[in-house]
Amino acid sequence: MLNLRLYYASTSLIGIVAVIIGLSYYSRHLALQTLVQHQTRANVDLTNSFANSIWSEFSNFVEDSYDLQDSESLRSRTELDYLQLITAQQMDHTNVVKVKIYNLDGLTVFSTDARQIGKNKHDNLGFQQAASGEVASEISFRNEFYAFENIIVDRNLISTYIPVKSKENNAIVAVFEVYSDVTPLIDDIDGTQLKIIAGVLLSLSALYCFLFLIVNRAHQVIQKQNEHRRVYEEKIRFQAYNDSLTGLPNRNQFTETMVQVLADARRARSTGAIMFLDLNRFKMVNDSLGHDAGDQLLRTTANRIQTCLHGDDVVYRLSGDEFIVVMQKLSHVDDAALLAKRIVKAMQAPVSLNNYAMTVNISIGITLFPREGLSVDELVKQADSAMYRAKRLGNDQYEFYSPEMSRLAGERLTMETELKTAINQEQFILYYQPKIDAATLEIAGVEALIRWEHPMRGIVPPDSFIPLLEETGLINTVGEWVLNTACHQAKIWNDLFDKPLRISVNISARQFSSRDLVSVVRNALVESELPPSCLELELTESMFVEDTEHAIHLMLELKDLGVSLSIDDFGSGYSSLGSLKNFPVDYLKIDRTFVNNIEDSQEDLSIITAITALARSLGLGLVAEGVEDEQQMQLLRVQGCDQFQGYFFSRPIPADEFLAKYIETPIEFRKAA
Ligand code: C2E
Ligand code: MG
Ligand code: MG
Repeated sequence: MLNLRLYYASTSLIGIVAVIIGLSYYSRHLALQTLVQHQTRANVDLTNSFANSIWSEFSNFVEDSYDLQDSESLRSRTELDYLQLITAQQMDHTNVVKVKIYNLDGLTVFSTDARQIGKNKHDNLGFQQAASGEVASEISFRNEFYAFENIIVDRNLISTYIPVKSKENNAIVAVFEVYSDVTPLIDDIDGTQLKIIAGVLLSLSALYCFLFLIVNRAHQVIQKQNEHRRVYEEKIRFQAYNDSLTGLPNRNQFTETMVQVLADARRARSTGAIMFLDLNRFKMVNDSLGHDAGDQLLRTTANRIQTCLHGDDVVYRLSGDEFIVVMQKLSHVDDAALLAKRIVKAMQAPVSLNNYAMTVNISIGITLFPREGLSVDELVKQADSAMYRAKRLGNDQYEFYSPEMSRLAGERLTMETELKTAINQEQFILYYQPKIDAATLEIAGVEALIRWEHPMRGIVPPDSFIPLLEETGLINTVGEWVLNTACHQAKIWNDLFDKPLRISVNISARQFSSRDLVSVVRNALVESELPPSCLELELTESMFVEDTEHAIHLMLELKDLGVSLSIDDFGSGYSSLGSLKNFPVDYLKIDRTFVNNIEDSQEDLSIITAITALARSLGLGLVAEGVEDEQQMQLLRVQGCDQFQGYFFSRPIPADEFLAKYIETPIEFRKAA
């Protein structure tokens, strides 16, 4: 916005400076012009009276000069001394400092400065003008000038060329040049000019200050008006986008914001939820207790909903007793169910209306977004219809729009509860899968793999519950159990087996970042009395990405316990090969997706070749997991893998089976393979 004060100050300052410069230039120019005119007149008068008095005697003096061509003869003429004398007398007490006489050829026949006699001025413009009958003057500044009797310095001079005419026929017979010293006059002009400029400057400054006061006032008034307008616009905007009763954003805001939210969710591929909330029996409250009570109930409802929200969640009041809550970036569908539960619970507390303690329930319908091809309006309709279903089902209900949504939300909630029961009721067991030495094809180690013995679903594989254990933090408890159990089991087998058998245990990212991993491992070793060299911890590349320094530090601490470390599923993560050399690990386990396709995919074979070379150069052992047939084994052997693990040798099996198969009567895979 234009700053009036600044604008005025800068433009007027420029104006004042321009006026002062223009004024000083123009006034000086005028003054000098007048001075020159004035002095020219004086010089002409002086010349005329001088010529009148001497011309009868000296007309021949000029005439004769046409015959004398060299300066010497001109300077040696006898009339010169006399001429000098009367010139000096005539010019005494005037400001004339030099007089020169030229013949019509431009030859200097006389000069009060005798050195100039004989010089030719024919080319001089002033001379030419005077020779043709005009008077010509010019003003100039001289540092040094030869005057009548002395040298004068730093002077302003006006020189005037004046034609001298014969009395008989009025013809021009000679040209006079008269120099007058106007220095004192110019000094006067300068002094006067300075005073004028100072006066003008003072007047302009006074005007400037006066106008500034007016502009400043105008500026303040405009600012105040702008501020009023901004506040007013904000108020109008607030009223347009907010509900005046509860202060919540209204339907307009919801419609506008949702378009963006939907687009963001599509771009980020995230899931959000729209919840439609409606008070039960609101009409009854309004009719029986009056509108004030109804308003009070709506305000309380808005407050209670707000206290249940987290992070980006926003509540809008659509109309009457209808509210909408929008949740963005749900990490799980059941987060919406959890919020609905919280709101339902918050609404169960009685509300005091007109001294009656009333309990008003709420019904909630939930739908998820983005859904292919569905607009905001259609999503709201879905949530609305889910809300009606909830209402029909009775008080304190929330419903998802589709059975699929409820299933998704319910499953995780159920699973979380079930996992807690599984921990309490010890439903987890370990399966074991052998690792085979590539050279001897004898058993070289064993990996402990967790299973969940679900009372209804049977054996559940780890991929379907480990992520949830991680999210809920339950993995720390379960992981500790796995470590203890695996170490105990390994100790038993080692006591029975004739060679040391190393057991591998998978460590999850959450365990790795927990503070007490080192002490948990140390504890498991101490309790089970398993030699640390018989324990290997399998880590994954993702654990080193965030804080490499810390990861290395932790790995070194684990190594200090005497255990081995390996990187599981190598090649599938984001490990920077550059920092791999800094990790104190002993083995790389090639991810089984590469092994899967080794026979058909040249790319996968190349990746394995590269990983092998890397392991060799860093002095690390190499394990190939997921070996399913002999051909794969042979190829991997050629590549130079140290150990194999996979269904070709054995699936993961329970401890007793493993004991019978590998410890009591060790199978020789050489025969099998
Ligand atoms: P992993 O550590 O990479 O374990 C190897 C997985 O590959 C195991 O799956 C194993 O059964 C499977 N496997 C072995 N050989 C073959 C084969 O020849 N073909 C095929 N298709 N698969 C093979 P499982 O037991 O289902 O374990 C899956 C993942 O769950 C494990 O991958 C590991 O990351 C995790 N996990 C298992 N137990 C634990 C545990 O106690 N703690 C933690 N934190 N994670 C565990
Ligand atoms: Mg593993
Ligand atoms: Mg693996």
